[in-house]
Amino acid sequence: MPSQDRDETPEDSRVVIVLDGPAGAGKSSVAREISRRMGLPFLDTGAIYRAITLVMQRAGIEAEDSPQLRDALRDFYISFRDGGIFVGDEDVSEAIRTPEIDAAVSRYSALPAVRSELLGIQRAQADAGLVAEGRDMGTVVFPDADLKIFLTASPESRARRRYDERAARGESVDYGEILASVNRRDEIDSNRDAAPLRQASDAILLDSTGVPFEEVVDRILKLASGI
Ligand code: C5P
Repeated sequence: MPSQDRDETPEDSRVVIVLDGPAGAGKSSVAREISRRMGLPFLDTGAIYRAITLVMQRAGIEAEDSPQLRDALRDFYISFRDGGIFVGDEDVSEAIRTPEIDAAVSRYSALPAVRSELLGIQRAQADAGLVAEGRDMGTVVFPDADLKIFLTASPESRARRRYDERAARGESVDYGEILASVNRRDEIDSNRDAAPLRQASDAILLDSTGVPFEEVVDRILKLASGI
């Protein structure tokens, strides 16, 4: 979490840059690099939805609105520290990146009760400005962001990126399964009623298919220099 006190950075000098887009478009690595180069905190909101999913699945709570789900949401405490993501005292950074979480996360994140609980958690991170990435950053969470990017890529190149990430971690992976999983997630994320994956009307569309990472970063840094 950003360490600055609430009043340390005057509100009008806080820079908020957001990236939205479908799964595997490279939002996390691009947003992380932009945040590093600009000296701003980084917020991976997908990690928060993944952590919620992990907590619910471990507790056997179904992806539907229920008193149990609401109680678990009230007790949910997430923090970003030491380069990891913690739920309570547990570092869940790896546990939230499994195929099981991939398969379930869109069902939990479609629930209005989940989204409204997480809204305040996400906005509270912006006290010192930030670079945030997700699905509804530009449309719902930070509608007044200084720069909005919608980062996309072809389904095949997005699946390939996920495949390479998993293979690099030594996992046994099947390209066809990953492509199907990415497509299924995008379908649910785009068609839900609550904060669907959508390009904000004032967002800039960037297609990263075949564009080297550094070039994507440079284009965004150039746009950010005009803020
Ligand atoms: O970005 P990542 O692939 O880790 O996101 C995992 C899932 O979390 C997405 O497929 C989506 O269902 C959900 N999500 C969301 N809103 C966000 C970020 C992620 O609904 N702002």
